[in-house]
Amino acid sequence: MEQLGDSLLKLIIETSTNLPPDVRRAMARAMGEEDPKSRSGQALSVIASNIDMAAECDGPVCQDTGWPSFYVTTPIGADQLRIEDAIRQAIAEATRRGKLRPNSVDSLTGKNSGDNLGPGTPTLHFHQWRKDDEIEVKLLLKGGGCENKNIQYSLPAELAHLGRADRNLDGVRKCLLHAVWQAQGHGCSAGALGVAIGGDRVTGYEHAKLQLFRPLDDVNPDSKLRELEEYVMKVANALGIGTMGFGGTATLIGCKVGAINRLPASFFVSVAYDCWAFRRLGVVLDARTGAIRRWLYKDDRPSAPMARGEGLTSGKTISLQAPLSEAQVRSLKVGDIVLINGMLYTGRDAVHHHLMQHPSPVDLRGQILYHCGPVVLKEGSGWKINAAGPTTSMREEPYESEIIGRYGLRAVMGKGGMGPKTLAGLKQHGAVYLNAIGGAAQYYARCIEKVEGVDLLDLGIPEAIWHLRVNNFPAIVTMDAAGNSLHADVEGASAAVLKTFAEPVFV
Ligand code: SF4
Repeated sequence: MEQLGDSLLKLIIETSTNLPPDVRRAMARAMGEEDPKSRSGQALSVIASNIDMAAECDGPVCQDTGWPSFYVTTPIGADQLRIEDAIRQAIAEATRRGKLRPNSVDSLTGKNSGDNLGPGTPTLHFHQWRKDDEIEVKLLLKGGGCENKNIQYSLPAELAHLGRADRNLDGVRKCLLHAVWQAQGHGCSAGALGVAIGGDRVTGYEHAKLQLFRPLDDVNPDSKLRELEEYVMKVANALGIGTMGFGGTATLIGCKVGAINRLPASFFVSVAYDCWAFRRLGVVLDARTGAIRRWLYKDDRPSAPMARGEGLTSGKTISLQAPLSEAQVRSLKVGDIVLINGMLYTGRDAVHHHLMQHPSPVDLRGQILYHCGPVVLKEGSGWKINAAGPTTSMREEPYESEIIGRYGLRAVMGKGGMGPKTLAGLKQHGAVYLNAIGGAAQYYARCIEKVEGVDLLDLGIPEAIWHLRVNNFPAIVTMDAAGNSLHADVEGASAAVLKTFAEPVFV
């Protein structure tokens, strides 16, 4: 098994940096159906460039390199403890090389282990098969933004805009439409659903996640479930949610439904929502040497480039030089595309918690707070950004308005938009919300010229305040200082469409 460690490291790096062909095909189809000039089309164009960049430079496709879940199948009697040990070492090495972001934190203290190892991480599932010469290892890297949009329904249930979902296939249909609707913006659409009907609360979610190991373009052998999958694909893409929740047609790239038995008293529908950065690969290893015999989900051919269009810089853009003035910010309107120059300061969950209780270590007056947990590597005496896309902003909704007012921020930037409290704060204090394209970690890393400093590094690399000097960093104004919100508009409009699908279909 002398090659086991190398093989596992290759699997982790390839999964984090290069999307599999079925996902690329699904994204290409989505791009083909979206108007390239629409906001959603432009976002897809950024995403496509980002996918190419990540593959070219072997960099993480998204800065959130996700929760690693391994599914290992071994010959009977194989030394599973040795494989487990090799997986842990490979995870730590991939983290050291900046292919994975340190993503494992103590749930009570928030302390980052720094190497992606700790109680519960990575997740390892071992099974056996009767083959005696091969080991199969499958890996899913699923990010926090989309993991937060997983949802489990216990039927019967009353669903917003769809009414009662009964304990039958039509009830499941309603759950799946609702699952897509509630994920808008936050889960980095265009996304995919892994669905389990049945099981208990634990095995339901587990079986839902397992559906994400089906190729996105396979065909369900169960004709009823196939019909349901096709229906959901068609209707979800007609809700008007679009890529990143900007409005449009490219909302869902896959729907995979499985069913397992349930208790007579329970009827769970569990949904694992995955984003466009759908990182899933596998390898078959020689059980004696640990060498890779073949890849799963991909062949040896190099991936064809995906980029098309000009991204967010097509059309009229407004150049912003941070720090920003109140007058400048109040002149911005929802839909404006801005190119940021000057400084950005990162801050997400731990920074918001800190700023609510302590003074800021850096003067934020007039500045832009970027909701981002980058992948950063030490380089000599300085730092190098390896990946730096936006994180879900909504988590900061309870704090943002107060932080904007207290520290004099003129903009916050992230993905997915924020709620009414922040919208009121933007109006009161004269600030805007900027939406960067979720997951476009390589695309945005190239807009960062220099790391000029860092504060609160003891919070861990993803949570620290990084001082980033940027050049032509593009984003869209989606909430302005006049009280307008693109997110509220798309949510309202898509809810109205959702309502039209309340009548039974699968009777
Ligand atoms: S693409 Fe979005 S949801 Fe997916 S891992 Fe990246 S930030 Fe999270």
